Amino acid sequence: MSRSDAHAQVLVIGSGAGGATTAAVLAEAGLDVLVVEEGGWVEQGSVVPFSLEQMDRQYRAGGVTVALGLPSIAYTEGRCAGGGTEINSGLYRRPPADVLARWAVDYRIRDFDPDELFAIADEVERDLSVGLRPGAATPASEVLRRGADRLGWQNDEIPRWMAYPPDGNASQAHRQSMTRTYLPRAERAGARIEVGCRVDRLELDGPRARAAHVTHADGRRNTVRFGDAFVCGGAIQSPALLQRSGIRGHIGKTLAVHPTVKLAARFADVVNTVDDVPVHQVTEFAPDLSFGGSASQPGLVALALSDHWAAFHTAMTDWQRISVYYAAITSEGRGAVRSVRGVRDPIVTYRLTRRDRELLRSGLARLALVMLEAGAEEVYPSFRDAPVVRNRADLARLQDRFVAGRASVMTVHLCSTVPLGEAEGITGASSYGKVHGTDNVWVNDASLLPTAPGVNPQATVMAIAIRNARRFAASRSARG
Ligand SMILES: Cc1cc2nc3c(=O)[nH]c(=O)nc-3n(C[C@H](O)[C@H](O)[C@H](O)COP(=O)(O)OP(=O)(O)OC[C@H]3O[C@@H](n4cnc5c(N)ncnc54)[C@H](O)[C@@H]3O)c2cc1C
Repeated sequence: MSRSDAHAQVLVIGSGAGGATTAAVLAEAGLDVLVVEEGGWVEQGSVVPFSLEQMDRQYRAGGVTVALGLPSIAYTEGRCAGGGTEINSGLYRRPPADVLARWAVDYRIRDFDPDELFAIADEVERDLSVGLRPGAATPASEVLRRGADRLGWQNDEIPRWMAYPPDGNASQAHRQSMTRTYLPRAERAGARIEVGCRVDRLELDGPRARAAHVTHADGRRNTVRFGDAFVCGGAIQSPALLQRSGIRGHIGKTLAVHPTVKLAARFADVVNTVDDVPVHQVTEFAPDLSFGGSASQPGLVALALSDHWAAFHTAMTDWQRISVYYAAITSEGRGAVRSVRGVRDPIVTYRLTRRDRELLRSGLARLALVMLEAGAEEVYPSFRDAPVVRNRADLARLQDRFVAGRASVMTVHLCSTVPLGEAEGITGASSYGKVHGTDNVWVNDASLLPTAPGVNPQATVMAIAIRNARRFAASRSARG
C-alpha cells in the first residue's frame, strides 16, 4: 500500500484466526481485499517458540498486559501477521454442540446451524493438517496422562494444527498458523497484505464508515477508503477500535475469558520439554474445569515459582526435572474493555465471581493431586505463601491457604466483547457479524463468541469467521 491514500472494496483489520480466514474467503470470492496488520511478518523458525525474543516481536506489549480486578488477570495477545495463531500452542478443539445450541437460543442467532459449522471445521482440519502427534508423548505430557489414569479421570490427547514430516519426527513439525495457510491463500487470490500498519480509528458518516485512519510502524499516517470494513483485531482490540471510532452499543461490555492458575511440579526424572507444550488435557470436570501443560522454558519455570520465591527458589537448580501445568476454568464472571481518549491502549477489567474463585481453589488442589499420582516429588502452587505439596495431606493446606487474590491468574483465551445475534441489549453485532447501528462495519473474530466456549477457542473463531465471510461474499455476488 502506498503511503498516500489507498482504497479497497473490503478492508480487513487484523490477520489472526478471524482476519486471515475472512481475507482468504473474500479474496477467493473475487472481492478486492486489503488486509492491514499492526504487527510485523515474522517467519516461523526465525524466533525460538516461547522465548523472550518471541514475546518482544510477536506479543502485544511484550506479553505484559493485564485485566484489572481482584485478582487482576494477566493476559496475552498476538501482535504480528497471523495474530495469536503464530504464538499459540496449536491445540485444536471443535466447539461443543451443546454450547452452539445454547448460543443460538440465548442470543437469537439466525441460521446458526451446528452442521454447517462442523462442515466448515472439516475443511479447516484438512487445511491445517489437524492431527495427533506421531510417536511417544513428551515426558511432560505423559505426566498428565499417567496422573489422570491412576485417578480414573478422563483425559485425552488434543489434536494440533501441525504438519509432521513423513518420518514422523515431531521435533521437525511445522505449525500450521495463518502465515503458512490462510494468509498465503488470500494473497494467491489477489488480497494485498500490509503489515506494520495500525488502524487508529474508522471515520463514520452516520451509520456508514468511509475510511480508516492508519499509522505505519515508521510513524507515517494515511487513510484507506473502503466499501466494507471487517474488524478482526481480537476480543480486546476490536471493541477498542469501534469505541475509538465513536460506535456505541453493546461493545466491549461482556469480555469472557478462561482464567487459569498454575503450579510447577518436580519429578525424579527429567520431564521438561523446553521447545514444546504438553498435548494431553484432563477433562474429567470439563467444561467447568480442565487441566493441561504450559510452556516450561527455564524463565517460565522461574515465573511459576516466583509467587513464593523465598521458599521455592532452590528448586530452580532442578528446572529440567520441573514442568509447569495449569487448571483452567469456565468463568461465570465478565469483564470490560474501555478505550480512553488520548490513551493508546484500552483499559481492561475483569471480575471473577465467588464460584469462579472457589473453582480456582479446588482446581489447583485437584491438579496438584494429578501431579502426586503421576509421581511428583514436590509441587509448587503459584500463589503467595503457598505451601510445598509433597503428599495428599498437604493438599488440605493448599486449599486452606489459597486465596484467589494472591494467585497468579492468567488467560490466553479472550472472547465475547461484541457478541453476535439478534437478542436486544446483549449483542453487539448481527447474526452474521455486522455491527448494530452501522451499514458496513463487520466484526469477524473472537469478539463474536457469545460466551467463552469452554474449550480452546481458535477452532470456533475460525468456523464462525468462515461462515460469516461466505455469507457476506454470497450477498455481494447476489447483488452483482
Ligand atoms: C499464548 C497463546 C496460546 C494460545 N493457545 C491456544 C491453543 O492452543 N488453542 C486455541 O484454540 N487457542 C489458543 N489461543 C487463543 C487463540 O490464539 C485465539 O483465540 C485466536 O487467535 C483469536 O483470533 P482473533 O482473530 O480473534 O485474534 P488474533 O488472532 O489475536 O488476531 C488479531 C490481530 O489483529 C491485529 N490488530 C489488532 N488491532 C489492530 C489494529 N487496530 N490495526 C491493525 N491490526 C490490528 C493484532 O496485531 C493481531 O495480529 C492462544 C492464544 C495465546 C495468546
